Amino acid sequence: MDKIEHIGIAVNSLKVSSEVYQKILGVKSYKQEEVRPEGVIAEFFKVGEGKIELLEPTNSESPIAKFLAKKGEGIHHIAFAVNNIYDEMRRLKSEGFILLSDIPKQGADNKLVCFVHPKDTSGVLIEICQEI
Ligand code: ZN
Repeated sequence: MDKIEHIGIAVNSLKVSSEVYQKILGVKSYKQEEVRPEGVIAEFFKVGEGKIELLEPTNSESPIAKFLAKKGEGIHHIAFAVNNIYDEMRRLKSEGFILLSDIPKQGADNKLVCFVHPKDTSGVLIEICQEI
C-alpha cells in the first residue's frame, strides 16, 4: 500500500462538523459529494498529503447511520491508496482477509474502493482505494 489516503469520520451533521474541521485544519473543504448507493454525503479536506473525509448519512439504512446508532460519532475507517486495487484485493484475500465486496465499488472523490472486514483488522474498518 502506498500511503494513508484519508481518514473517514462519521458525523451526525456535516453542517456542524464541517465548521469544526475547518477550524481545526485551517482550510476549507474542497469538495462535497453524495454517494447515493452508500447513502452518504462526503465532505473532503486536504491536509498535506492526506485527507479527512466527513461522512453524514442520508437515510437510516446507510452503513454510516448504523455506525452512528451503534457507536456515535468518530473515526469510521482508514483508507490506504493502492496502485492496483484488483491486485491488492487478490493479495488480501489470499492472506485470509474478508473483503466486503467481490469487485471494487465506485467511491467518492473519483475512486474505486473496497473495504476489509474489521473483525480481522483489530477492529478497524480498512478501505483500499485507487484513483480512477
Ligand atoms: Zn473513505
